[in-house]
Amino acid sequence: MQQIALNIIAIGVFIISVFSMLGPILHISPLVPVFIVLLLLFFLGIDAVLLQNRGISVFLEFLGGKKHRQRVIHHEAGHFLIAYLLDIPILDYSLSTLDAWRKGHKGSGGVVLGIEQIKDKETSLEKFCTVAMAGIAAEQIVYKDAQGGEDDRQHLYSLLLRKGLNRKSHPLKERTALLQAKDLLSKNSSTYQSIVDLMEQGSSIEQCYLALALGKEPSTVPAESLVLS
Ligand SMILES: [Zn+2]
Repeated sequence: MQQIALNIIAIGVFIISVFSMLGPILHISPLVPVFIVLLLLFFLGIDAVLLQNRGISVFLEFLGGKKHRQRVIHHEAGHFLIAYLLDIPILDYSLSTLDAWRKGHKGSGGVVLGIEQIKDKETSLEKFCTVAMAGIAAEQIVYKDAQGGEDDRQHLYSLLLRKGLNRKSHPLKERTALLQAKDLLSKNSSTYQSIVDLMEQGSSIEQCYLALALGKEPSTVPAESLVLS
């Protein structure tokens, strides 16, 4: 949401800057950029109220092009692989706002986990933390930095708060989960690449599970190493 607001401001500043430079040369009234910005704000308001900012998200994803899509795929493949390795059911995934909208998912897409299907919810906290940080971990491994993942951090913090863990403990939990996710991704790099390829091809969740089942059994860490002190 904050990123969207910053992008909107950037677009507004860009429009005003362009017209400030070209307006006198092309004899365009100074009221034109003001009108365009007001029109833009009107449509953004409609988008925010009626479409939960999906319109601007689709536009920004379009501007991001193939590079943005590749980063999203690598981020979501990180969530996917770690959820798979930790036996957290994956119901579906989407790679863009339009894709998520079409499939009836919330927000701008991502991996949909079957939380209700997990029987032992208490011992799953560390697993969820690791899955939550897996997108950031994947980006850091592949791109050396992470552009996405702020929503993941917020999910992690709200989960820890719901479990009664105070805010002081959150940074350590986050770092531990990130290291755990990076370790698992590094140990299963070929499986990770398979998921990236499958997502790139738009494979269904069934096709992804089948491909993983037919592939080499991925290596997992011992169960006790998932328990945080
Ligand atoms: Zn994520």
